[in-house]
Amino acid sequence: MDLMNRDRVNYDIADHSLYDVINYNEIVVLNVIREQFNKEPNLCKCSICLEDIYALSLNALPARYIQSSGAEKYTSSINFINETDVKAKVIDAIIKVRKLPNHK
Ligand SMILES: [Zn+2]
Repeated sequence: MDLMNRDRVNYDIADHSLYDVINYNEIVVLNVIREQFNKEPNLCKCSICLEDIYALSLNALPARYIQSSGAEKYTSSINFINETDVKAKVIDAIIKVRKLPNHK
């Protein structure tokens, strides 16, 4: 089984799909990176730097898996990580990648 390809993961168990259980922080990180890429014209936007920024950001944050219909419940819970905190992790990741890029 190739676990390194999301499309090949089988999310079905007992006639139910777990596909819609998502890491909320993943969605916020994607939005914040997009925002930073638009804001900072001097940032290297190659796929290697982008993937590094994405992975570093997500590894710096705890996962927050929720049902796709449960966003409201999550954002009002004590486990909620707000966008300001997520943004700080993304900016740390951008600084790290900019300092030591893996591209050639
Ligand atoms: Zn790059």
